[in-house]
Amino acid sequence: MSDYNKLTPKLIDQLVAIVGSDNCYVGDEIAEDYSHDEMPIYGSQAPEIVCLPASTEEVSRIMKLCYDNTIPVTVRGAGTGLAGGCTPLCGGVVLSTMRMDKIIEYDMNNLTVRIQPGVRLCDLAADALEHDLMYPPDPGEKTGSVGGNVSTNAGGMRAVKYGTTRDYVLAMTAVLPNGEVVELGPAVTKSSSGYSLLHLIIGSEGTLAIITELTMKLIPNPQVSISFILPFENIEEAIGSVPSIKLAGLNPQSIEFMERDIVDSSANYTGNDIFPTVVQGREVGAYILVTLDGNDEDEIMQRAERLMEVSEEKGAYDVLVVNQPSIRDAVWEARSAFLTVIEAEADLLDEMDVVVPVDRIAEFLEYVHGVGVEYGVRIRSFGHAGDGNLHIYCSGNDLDRDEFMALSEKVMEAAYKKCTELDGQVSGEHGIGHAKKQYLRSSVGETLYGLMGDIKTIFDPKHILNPGKVCHDLEA
Ligand SMILES: Cc1cc2nc3c(=O)[nH]c(=O)nc-3n(C[C@H](O)[C@H](O)[C@H](O)COP(=O)(O)OP(=O)(O)OC[C@H]3O[C@@H](n4cnc5c(N)ncnc54)[C@H](O)[C@@H]3O)c2cc1C
Repeated sequence: MSDYNKLTPKLIDQLVAIVGSDNCYVGDEIAEDYSHDEMPIYGSQAPEIVCLPASTEEVSRIMKLCYDNTIPVTVRGAGTGLAGGCTPLCGGVVLSTMRMDKIIEYDMNNLTVRIQPGVRLCDLAADALEHDLMYPPDPGEKTGSVGGNVSTNAGGMRAVKYGTTRDYVLAMTAVLPNGEVVELGPAVTKSSSGYSLLHLIIGSEGTLAIITELTMKLIPNPQVSISFILPFENIEEAIGSVPSIKLAGLNPQSIEFMERDIVDSSANYTGNDIFPTVVQGREVGAYILVTLDGNDEDEIMQRAERLMEVSEEKGAYDVLVVNQPSIRDAVWEARSAFLTVIEAEADLLDEMDVVVPVDRIAEFLEYVHGVGVEYGVRIRSFGHAGDGNLHIYCSGNDLDRDEFMALSEKVMEAAYKKCTELDGQVSGEHGIGHAKKQYLRSSVGETLYGLMGDIKTIFDPKHILNPGKVCHDLEA
């Protein structure tokens, strides 16, 4: 176990002096939320202080003080993570970026925007639209901070066409664990200038440095987007259509899959029953939701004709066009509510967001459902069929937490093992945090896990930044 110090009254006073007494919480003032992210089932720990700095300079001063005194620091954005990433496992300081929420400036010639890390995704997306620009990454939780999105390399619905958050980060200002400020990545579109430390920090979940400013790439906003619901008899047929849809050269913005079970729950819970359950007299077992975008509606409808041919060849009952804004909103609201619905129906919940090759999705899902039956837990799934990224939830009711976690661990172990066998990855977009560390280790093997640990030590020799996460073992 690393030897961390506790905050003394003197150190607390020094931290308060840096951010101002209105911008920190100590002891009983600290809200319970700061002890965990969206998955408290992975464990909670209260910090000794929560600081909300307003600038790179304040972050740097906090880090220098904590480095000199070996105090653990955990960075927190909006706390919407799903892997325990911002849980302060060793107490110490929680450094919240949510006061650093300014959209600083647009560069309309180079299609970039400079922002602070605490800007929420929904605010950046809406503000960019005001400039007729699109910020393409679109993770399901719109209130997450962009700093958190960058730190987990968040993906989302549009990744199949536009890529993940990583693809939109051109430059950043970051504070190293010892308080030194570094500028990474020139805000130009190409660079072959040494190792990309920028890309090392993207997706590093607050374990290497604290991001305090970002230059993000934007694109001209596509003027038209039309969604299409493809109903199928079952999940195997639905997923089986995806490689053909991808091969047909349609350049879809998103290809999502959903099982009937979750669609029914969503309709019951939200009252929004926009997905038809019987099409042409046949019960629907699963759906694919495709979105095509562009600037010309006629051109999109030409691509849609090809989509209809391909999907009907693959067993779709029909292709339902969703082009009225109110219906499109209802469809996407239903899709966005899935996790909330699953949470509402379960007392206890564990999740995985593996990514497997697209043509192995159906095999993987069948396997996991089988494991769920074996251990008596309910398995529910939906996800990004276009890139093989599956959100699988293991839920339990009428069990105590330890009993549930023991069963869930068995399901997770089997599922991650299968995922590795299928050449998949432990996390497609939610990250490792501390909840998925053991699975990362067995999936990448000791050599790569050890290399990650060595990189961590080079950035953070005292291991004060977000201890116990990704590849850092508290026991080591
Ligand atoms: C309903 C729901 C749906 C979701 N859907 C998706 C989805 O479709 N795709 C997806 O990718 N994710 C999804 N997520 C997960 C979550 O929204 C993302 O992981 C998001 O990027 C987290 O942002 P945050 O600001 O809440 O980060 P936090 O949870 O606060 O932190 C996440 C990690 O980033 C680190 N971090 C945060 N800010 C910084 C910074 N400035 N510098 C360094 N490190 C930092 C933290 O230390 C932590 O390790 C979903 C979550 C929910 C609850």
